[in-house]
This record gives sequence, C-alpha cells and structure tokens, in this order.
Amino acid sequence: MKTSWKDELLRPWIIAGPCSAESFDQLYHTTKAIYELGINTIRSGIWKPRTRPNSFEGIGQKALEWIEKIKKELPVQFAVEVATAQHAELALKHGIDILWIGARTTVNPFLVQDIADSLRGTSTPVLIKNPVNPDLDLWIGCIERIANAGITKIGAIHRGFSSFKKTQYRNEPLWQLAIELKRILPHIPLICDPSHIGGDSSMIFSISQKALDLNYDGLIIETHPNPKEALSDPKQQVTPEQLALIINSLKLRKDKCDSVSFKNKLEELRHKIDSIDHDIIENLANRMKVIDEIGEYKLKNEVTILQLERWNEILKSRKSWAKDLKLTPNFVEEVYKTVHSDSIRRQTEIFNKNKN
Ligand code: PEP
Ligand code: MN
Repeated sequence: MKTSWKDELLRPWIIAGPCSAESFDQLYHTTKAIYELGINTIRSGIWKPRTRPNSFEGIGQKALEWIEKIKKELPVQFAVEVATAQHAELALKHGIDILWIGARTTVNPFLVQDIADSLRGTSTPVLIKNPVNPDLDLWIGCIERIANAGITKIGAIHRGFSSFKKTQYRNEPLWQLAIELKRILPHIPLICDPSHIGGDSSMIFSISQKALDLNYDGLIIETHPNPKEALSDPKQQVTPEQLALIINSLKLRKDKCDSVSFKNKLEELRHKIDSIDHDIIENLANRMKVIDEIGEYKLKNEVTILQLERWNEILKSRKSWAKDLKLTPNFVEEVYKTVHSDSIRRQTEIFNKNKN
C-alpha cells in the first residue's frame, strides 16, 4: 500500500520558533534552544501580515540569509510564511524547507493561485492555515489549489477564527470546523496553532492538550527568548524553557486500543448511544408532526408563523430544564435554535403550498 506523507510523520510533529525573526542573534539562540529540546522544525515569520499599519512588518529577505547561515550550523528545517508568489520564490531560492500560507492569505483565491502557480514543479511541503473567517470551503479551496499545482506534501494548520464578539480566545477555535476538515480530508496532517488560537501564553498547554486529544498530528508553538520584548505577538509567545515544560506535560494518548475488553465495553456503550439517538430522532419526527399541525392551524386562523413570545418562552424553559439536568444551557439553546429554524421552514412550506 502506498504510504502518504501523513503516515511518515513522527507524531506529534512539534514546530516551534518565534512569531517573527527579529535579529540574527534572536533567531539563532531561539533555534539552538529549541533544537536542544529535541525539536528540529523551526517556524519563523519573515514577512508579517499586520492588522494595523506602522507596526513591525518583518525583516524580509535578509532573514532568509540568517536562516541559511543557521542551517549550516544546526541540523534543523525551517518553516516560513509566504503571502505572495514572490515570497514563495525567494523562500525556495534560499532553501526554506517548509512554506506556510497564513490565515489572511488563505482567504484570497487570487493570491493562493499565484502562489500555487509559482510552486508548480517543486516538492517543498506547504502548510495551509485556516482562513480568518470560519469558511471551510475557503480552507479546502486553498488546499485544492496547492494540490492542483502538484504539491503532495500538504498540511493544514488550525489557528482559530476571528469573531466580533469578545471571547476568552484571540481567535475562536470552532473545533468542529477543523474536525470536519479532518473528516473530509483524512490524509492531510492537521496541526494546531495554540498560540494564535489562545493569544496568551497561559493558554498554550490546555489548547495543545485538547488538540492532541482530538488526535491532531502536530502543534506549532510560538517561542521567543524574551516574549515581553517581542516585536510581534508578545503576549502569546513562550520561552524555550516554558516550551519544554509544556511539551513534557502533554499527555499523548493512543488513537485506538486493541484490548478485547476495551473493545467490548466500548461497543456496549455505543449500542446504548445508538438506541438513545434513535429515540431522539423518533421524538424529533413526532415533534415535527405537531409543528406541521400547528402550521395548518396558524394558516387557517391567519396568524404569523413566528410567535416571539412563545419562542422566548421555549428558550427560557428549555435552558432552565437543561440546567436542572446538568446540561450546558448554551448547548441546549443551540440545539433549539436549529430545531426552531427547521420548524419555521416546515411551516413556511405549509403556508406556501396554500398560496393561491
Ligand atoms: C503567524 O503565524 O505568525 C501568523 C501571522 O499567523 P496567522 O496567519 O495565523 O494570523
Ligand atoms: Mn504570530
């Protein structure tokens, strides 16, 4: 059987290094400290896509020479972000081992296509970050454009999604979206970027552990010798010493267990879940029958489908029932929003059928 790039990776693949290369000394010392931890893939931003102008926009091409010099001394490979075809060409010219496409570039099919065209005929691996907005198709589209250029070593980096609402995260993880990518493209290694998801060094461990428990293939962690003084992303970078602590504390669980008693017990519990799910679906179908009856009744009496007071009352009571049963009220609220939207769809269909 042909093995894919993913099968050959040593898991978890740890990539560490500064958000940005700032000086030769900073890059050299960080690389050396990380290499001494047994990690040999170093990340480093060179061209930095910054949200606001007048902030540090990266060292640029000069840092590629620093990397070449460091690689002569240490057996490491470097990963660098490329945001244009010109970046990609320069990076390859300077022997960069791995390229990555940043979140702000993944959103732009023109740029991605330019980069893909510039990579045609090369074999350097490309890691593709999720787009800033939670659009799975854009992420997949970027992967497809790079794959169509003949690149076979492609990975995906989950760095979270920006949102208007303030949350504990810098970029909300929306784990389900990354899990869906894994389901659709199981042969693509999935790497978590806890630095850009959390936005704070104190969150790196818990996000990394969660990613490993979701069977991710690797982690990319921003590491700086003196994070407070970093020219970009100072809050989220860890020192090499902190990185060592994080890596050593992570628990690596296996993705399956061959023990017969484990398999039997799991199967027994899964039977229970199957039966509960069957009941849930039967109940949903029964609920929808009543929804249809109500739809007919509203139509006959010429009242609107949406009855705001009733909808507020449903949300309030269901969330309180959820709380009593130790379920997360927000989870139940989301379930009911989905159910309610389909109820409205069904009643709208009933109203439309009777339009004449
Ligand atoms: C980065 O990795 O430093 C970076 C700019 O990340 P992102 O594209 O995820 O914002
Ligand atoms: Mn960064």
